[in-house]
Amino acid sequence: MEMIHFMINNLLSRFGILSGLAFLFFGGLSCNQEHQASYHPPQYLILLSIDGYKHSYNEQYQPPNLVRFASEGVAAQALIPSFPSKTFPNHYTIVTGMYPENHNLVNNTFYDPERGEFYRIRDRSAVQDGSWYSGNPIWVHAEKHGITSASYFFVGSEADVQGVRPTYHYDYDASVPNKERIDQVMGWLDLPEQDRPRMITMYFSDIDDAGHAFGPDATQTKNAVLSIDSLLGYFFEKLEAIHLPVNFIIVSDHGMANIPTDHYINTDEFLNPDHYHVANNGALAHLYLKDSITIEEAVGPLNEIDQPLKVYLRKDFPHYHRNRDNPRIGDIILMPEFPYYLADSRRLTRNRQMATLLNNDGLFGEHGFDSAEPDMHGVFFAKGPAFKNALRIESFENIHIYPIMCRILGLEIPEGIDGDYEVLRGILKD
Ligand code: AMP
Ligand code: ZN
Ligand code: ZN
Repeated sequence: MEMIHFMINNLLSRFGILSGLAFLFFGGLSCNQEHQASYHPPQYLILLSIDGYKHSYNEQYQPPNLVRFASEGVAAQALIPSFPSKTFPNHYTIVTGMYPENHNLVNNTFYDPERGEFYRIRDRSAVQDGSWYSGNPIWVHAEKHGITSASYFFVGSEADVQGVRPTYHYDYDASVPNKERIDQVMGWLDLPEQDRPRMITMYFSDIDDAGHAFGPDATQTKNAVLSIDSLLGYFFEKLEAIHLPVNFIIVSDHGMANIPTDHYINTDEFLNPDHYHVANNGALAHLYLKDSITIEEAVGPLNEIDQPLKVYLRKDFPHYHRNRDNPRIGDIILMPEFPYYLADSRRLTRNRQMATLLNNDGLFGEHGFDSAEPDMHGVFFAKGPAFKNALRIESFENIHIYPIMCRILGLEIPEGIDGDYEVLRGILKD
């Protein structure tokens, strides 16, 4: 029955037929009243992102703690990433409820023609500069309403978005052991109530790292899954022992696909950096026209490329369709067919060196492709006092997590987001 409620709401939401009918199914309070209601006593929320945890890994690798967590709580068939299925756009979508073309982190790397600058995930000053970020991250929303928040790494949490950071936060450092992150989270939950954060975000990158280096089906990736799972077992035990009403959401930003060794397309053979700025993200390259050339002149030679890829003008690009006016998308976009990947000569050389070093037969994993591609799908598991028990739900888009987090924290859902509270409403206890 619960599954049926959930499916009906999901369908209604997709087709834009909302509150009136949903009211018939759930009855009770109007949406607005319900959004503002909060739990007494207030509940806690941990949002953990396991980067690159593909939707199939629980079944494929049977990590005991994650499998148990998923079976006892709410588990989606898969979590559908927003386009493009890359780390930065999707983490920021999860914490803002907005599509990348609306929250403005349109890819891991992009150019902003108005600023005349690139944003790159390895550029610390850009990553920490709140002026690159739009939307209302959940910790900003929480802090503005008097809820203390904390983050042991999460995209956007190091930046002063609207001048606000989580009360407790760290600059990203991939080398910090995951156990240290967990112990700090437990330390935060052990603080006196007036200092204790009620909203905590955290992040593990190891499974994405292994998936890239060896592909999703490799033993090394399985080992990374099992190793994170064993740490989660430790974490769950600690959480149970403190007897706080903690809701725990585990998500991933995207999945992972094998890229056959001969499926790399060398972009140096046809891209002309005199004509445009290039932000190549592998599964998608954004080209931003320079003043010296017209779009027709730039596109002409690109249309002649004899490779498995498509060339689009921004206005005709089938993705990012909620806001194609966003100039960070690029005037021209190259998108390889799945699973081909765009790489320049430097990247290809590095791949060859890495292949020798890793002994992976040249088989790497990648993501960033069309979000409809099942290999790109991630996970959503949730457990805690606010969530129904043992509930399986169909796949849904990651924009819809944010309204649920607002509800758990007793925050109003901001206007203008893309996520819809009705889609996941049925996973919460009344
Ligand atoms: P991707 O290229 O999309 O696979 O990005 C994954 C990489 O993003 C991981 O290797 C992480 O180390 C890195 N990453 C995750 N969060 C951050 C952050 N806040 N700042 C910089 N890099 C990050
Ligand atoms: Zn990622
Ligand atoms: Zn990755």
